[in-house]
Amino acid sequence: YQTLRLILGDQLNAGHSWYNTKDEGTLYVIAELNQETSYVKHHVQKVCAFFAAMKAFSVALQKAGHNVSHLTLDDTHQFATLPELLNSLIAKYGIAKFEYQLPDEYRLRDQLSTFCAQIDIDSGAYESEHFYLSDSELSSYFSAGKKHRLEAFYRKMRVRFNILMDGSTPFGGEWNFDSNNRNKLKQKDLSEIPEPLVFANDVSDVWERLQRHQVSTFGIYEANSLWPITRAQAKELLRSFCETQLPKFGFFQDAMTCKADDMYTKKQWSLYHSRLSFALNSKIISPQFVVDTVVAYFVQHQQEIDIAQVEGFVRQIIGWREFVRGIYWVNMPQYAELNELDAKRDLPDWFWNGKTHMNCQKHAVKQSLDYAYAHHIQRLMVTGNFCLIAGIDPRQVDDWYLGVYIDAIEWVEMPNTRGMSQFADGGIVGSKAYAASGNYVNKMSDYCSDCQYDIKSVAGDNACPLNSLYWHFMDTHEGKFSSNPRNRMVYANWRKKAPEQRALIMEQAAYYLDNLNKL
Ligand code: FAD
Ligand code: SF4
Repeated sequence: YQTLRLILGDQLNAGHSWYNTKDEGTLYVIAELNQETSYVKHHVQKVCAFFAAMKAFSVALQKAGHNVSHLTLDDTHQFATLPELLNSLIAKYGIAKFEYQLPDEYRLRDQLSTFCAQIDIDSGAYESEHFYLSDSELSSYFSAGKKHRLEAFYRKMRVRFNILMDGSTPFGGEWNFDSNNRNKLKQKDLSEIPEPLVFANDVSDVWERLQRHQVSTFGIYEANSLWPITRAQAKELLRSFCETQLPKFGFFQDAMTCKADDMYTKKQWSLYHSRLSFALNSKIISPQFVVDTVVAYFVQHQQEIDIAQVEGFVRQIIGWREFVRGIYWVNMPQYAELNELDAKRDLPDWFWNGKTHMNCQKHAVKQSLDYAYAHHIQRLMVTGNFCLIAGIDPRQVDDWYLGVYIDAIEWVEMPNTRGMSQFADGGIVGSKAYAASGNYVNKMSDYCSDCQYDIKSVAGDNACPLNSLYWHFMDTHEGKFSSNPRNRMVYANWRKKAPEQRALIMEQAAYYLDNLNKL
């Protein structure tokens, strides 16, 4: 072979221009790697889904007539790093040129550019051709350290890519219908939650390899992976989303329940969300394809689906997903060190086993361990909020999120976790810290009625920990937050409380902070 082309595990993009031509002199390599299983401890379902999807992609490429070397851990275990493996392949095949697609993760991009600078053969880097915005365009939308806001960026994206537009105005008359989208699931809604479409991809061979090579993972192992690992499956999931979840996607986007499961169905874990993030982030399916399909479906079904549902969904993909990628790239590697609130406490042990008495946290953590999935509000307003108001070290928070979720890749995980959720970036991603007392959970879920803590109490035996931790957090960071007009009422309410009551609340919070593992 003349040319060696590397395909990383999250570069399973069959539509890439690399594959437009077949070349006998090109060998594609796709490899399970030690370094990718160990840079953070991963959920076992995440490793299994990635490795199974990589295998399926290599089979599809071979069928399409390309030369592919798919290497498993059995073939690569002696190579501690990716460069070691690449050097050995270059020597083995007498390769004259090495090519790769720009990785979306800083760690890998750095590693590969250093590698290319050191080898004595030609090399070339290509765009991944997955996102709406190309890599080279990011710096014209984002600047390092600048506090960017989603809404302005999102509107630019709508106009530029002509999505849900009516000439130069937004379709439906508004850019954003979020205010329609904050509904709680009532008792009568529970039986209507659609059953999620899941797959049953046998990953037992991957599991055996993980055991054989002592790869350390966590979470519940499923021999039949629920996640889409081929393009056909990803398209099926997308179609099923349009038909069954899209009509109420926005309406119940922020809702949470622990009461929707019965012995026959398991549906509370996904509600009206698409669960397309794994297929998107591994690039099995492109964001354009997802958005075009959803918009086309909406156009044909305007009688049944209103614009608020579709706009809310499109915003997540052309807005948030592209936005956090831009933030990540212009701010790395410094972004990974930011800790604006100087948070230092250790992540409680129950994040690894779900053994906490707080019903909201128990559900979000257990579900994450069971499915490698939680929806956005569980991540942001349950576990994320807890870590924020308890002052957990953002590095430990990042590591947990990066390991546990099926869709977690650093470019999208970190701005969401360290930025949006933990405010460790001082407001680069979001204009305020998403801190909340137990009230928020009570408003958006049915968790509190089944909890051993009392949502109505702020201090005293069994008081909901989120209540005092919230006030403690706001009090501690008053210097940083009080000038934000969105917090004016909060501080006015805090000051209105009698000094003895404030002292009691702070004492309660201090007790909880000393006993985080026992909550
Ligand atoms: P849906 O609710 O159906 O949304 C559709 C798609 O929109 C998602 O698949 C995703 O691609 C995109 N999207 C939605 N919200 C965001 C967002 N805030 N940022 C980027 N894309 C978004 N998403 C990841 O893909 N990987 C992560 O590692 C990740 N970590 C997160 C950590 C925290 C603390 C928070 C608050 C959010 C995180 N998110 C992450 C964003 C979001 O929670 C997930 O994308 C979403 O829950 C995936 O489920 P879904 O496919 O059912 O999404
Ligand atoms: Fe969570 Fe507090 Fe409600 Fe319990 S009472 S579920 S800890 S918000």
